[in-house]
Amino acid sequence: MAKITACINCGSRDVSWKGDSIAGTVYFGALGGQVQCGNCGHVGAPIEFKSEKDYGKFLDALKKRKKPDGRG
Ligand SMILES: [Zn+2]
Repeated sequence: MAKITACINCGSRDVSWKGDSIAGTVYFGALGGQVQCGNCGHVGAPIEFKSEKDYGKFLDALKKRKKPDGRG
C-alpha cells in the first residue's frame, strides 16, 4: 500500500522531495525529509498518511483550522 504524502501547510498532494537526484532524495530523507509544495510553495517536512481516509480527515481538520485572519 502506497503512503500518501501531502503538504503539511495546505494539504496538497502536489509535493516533490527536495533535491533533484536520487542522492539528494536520500540525503534529505536522512535528515527527516523535506518537500516543496507545488501548490503553496511551502518547504518543510511533509505529512504522511497510510490511507485515503486518514488523508480526508486531515483535509477536514485543515479547513476547520483556517481562520480569516490567518492566525492560529
Ligand atoms: Zn502546500
